[in-house]
Amino acid sequence: MAVHQEQGNEIVLQSTYILIATGSSPFHPQTFPFEMPGVYDSDTVLNLDRMPESLAVVGAGVIGSEYASTFTALGARVHLIEGRDTLLPFLDSEISRTLAVAMERTGVEFHWKNRVLACAKADGGQLMLSLSSGDQLTVDAILVAAGRKSNVETLNLSAAGITASDRGLISVDNHFRTQVPSIYAAGDVIGFPALASTSMQQARIALRHAVGSEVNPDSFRLLPTGIYTIPEVGTIGETEDSLRTKGVDYLVGRGAYQDCARGRIIGDQHGFLKLLFRRADMKLLGVHMIGEQATDLVHIGMMAMLSDSTAMIFEEACFNVPTLGELYKLATLDAMSKMGVREQRNGEPA
Ligand SMILES: Cc1cc2nc3c(=O)[nH]c(=O)nc-3n(C[C@H](O)[C@H](O)[C@H](O)COP(=O)(O)OP(=O)(O)OC[C@H]3O[C@@H](n4cnc5c(N)ncnc54)[C@H](O)[C@@H]3O)c2cc1C
Repeated sequence: MAVHQEQGNEIVLQSTYILIATGSSPFHPQTFPFEMPGVYDSDTVLNLDRMPESLAVVGAGVIGSEYASTFTALGARVHLIEGRDTLLPFLDSEISRTLAVAMERTGVEFHWKNRVLACAKADGGQLMLSLSSGDQLTVDAILVAAGRKSNVETLNLSAAGITASDRGLISVDNHFRTQVPSIYAAGDVIGFPALASTSMQQARIALRHAVGSEVNPDSFRLLPTGIYTIPEVGTIGETEDSLRTKGVDYLVGRGAYQDCARGRIIGDQHGFLKLLFRRADMKLLGVHMIGEQATDLVHIGMMAMLSDSTAMIFEEACFNVPTLGELYKLATLDAMSKMGVREQRNGEPA
């Protein structure tokens, strides 16, 4: 890389390859007066100098759901407003439903299929939200979590021959090259999944490719997701919905926290692990978990999936007791107990 000091403070860098990793910022819908005291986004909410007694969170995406859980646990009355009628629809639908019920149980008040039409000052320093349902909410603070936009405004991308979407997303190929082969992009600036974990891995793949190092194109096929709601969610691979869409015949195995000693010791009454196996060869295709430490425990399943393992790996393994890892054994045995059930039901040999 060549560096040329120019006039004033400007520095000009020349390089064979460039990696754009400028991240993203909260998107600000026009409905909300962000200059008004009490109106926050996911960055500025960290500047709160006291706990609001009541908080409206606009948008039940990952960030909105996590903050809604956190503020509820801290004692605020939280309204979570969401345009859809499903929580985090990319999740396995059973996990999504379980999470919504669990969050309601902790005290989060959902306002499904609702949009905020107006936001105004109310008496006593409070804020009033008018919802598309006709409801009005008066709260101490509002957290707008309505998505993010890429940080590309100052990059003058078009001068380099790169076009970005409305929200600044840069398109890349599977080596994270933009339209200009010597310019790579990784992380939030390219959009989904927009996680710290995946951003780092994307950048590593991009730079390995740039320097001519061998890159396994499969190394990015399996990405775990951790959602730090209360309870937390860990997930990787296919969901029941995606398997049905692909026409894959599968078996579900469940292990409930209450059915293993560690789950009972820690008092997690509702958590469970759900494993999805391909019926034909019992290959593990999906891992979905809700409950204590789910974001960590999903990695056990991830390693099994990365090594193309089948149910046998959990059937044969001995897990420490009491641990939550034992749930993998319970869920696998549950799935194996269902092998042949459909055939028997149809009157065919198991
Ligand atoms: C509330 C919240 C919670 C999150 N929780 C999780 C989580 O639990 N787990 C997880 O994996 N991910 C989480 N994420 C997502 C994670 O923070 C991002 O995916 C990750 O930080 C993206 O990394 P990045 O390197 O692409 O961008 P960033 O981390 O945003 O870094 C981009 C950097 O580029 C700088 N920059 C921008 N423009 C320029 C420019 N023109 N010139 C020079 N520098 C520039 C910025 O100042 C910034 O330092 C969360 C995000 C939010 C908002």
